[in-house]
Amino acid sequence: MKQLAPGVWQLTGRLPIPNAINTYLLGDVLVDAGARFDGKKILEQLRGRSLSAHALTHAHPDHQGASKLVCEEFGVPFWVGERDADAAERPELIRERQPSSMIGRVFFKSMVGPAHPVDRRLREGDEVAGFTVLDTPGHSAGHVSFWRESDRVLILGDVLNSMDVITTMPGLREPKPYLTPDPALNRASARKLGELEPALVCFGHGAPVRDTPKFVDFCRSLPA
Ligand SMILES: [Zn+2]
Repeated sequence: MKQLAPGVWQLTGRLPIPNAINTYLLGDVLVDAGARFDGKKILEQLRGRSLSAHALTHAHPDHQGASKLVCEEFGVPFWVGERDADAAERPELIRERQPSSMIGRVFFKSMVGPAHPVDRRLREGDEVAGFTVLDTPGHSAGHVSFWRESDRVLILGDVLNSMDVITTMPGLREPKPYLTPDPALNRASARKLGELEPALVCFGHGAPVRDTPKFVDFCRSLPA
């Protein structure tokens, strides 16, 4: 586990490519839980710690894969954006809401985790581990981000990636259109996050970014 900011740690994923699928510990709340195959590695890194909750940025297979395992192992509640809660409880909805593509189907099959009941539906303005929940839909209907204004730390899930999820090439980019039900809405969410001028941005895929102007410029460059 690598500390990125006070009370913010990035876990190491199971895949050999660094930052391929990211999970974060914010205080004692685990944000995202990788793919199904990440479960063992996540539990190993959290051994000896206590959690108070497990939250998702969004209910996609590479973020909810080990959610049930984590919640049951630590006996903690499951917190999901209000418009993604039904998908977390019925993962077949994730597949139904994605554009039809072969890669999407392969991702779903190889990574999706079991259903798990949601205990709290997150809404804009809610507080999670000292972070404020921001509604950032587009990549999924109920995608949320986590923002801590005091030191300008942003956990933005897959609103943007800092790595190509297929080639693993680093660099800021929009998430793949075939994994994003509403790319235009997602761009609006990205532009909203850019205006926060974060000092540290933590992505679902790719390395954290501390170059604020580069991030802000990228968000502002996205077409309306
Ligand atoms: Zn993802």
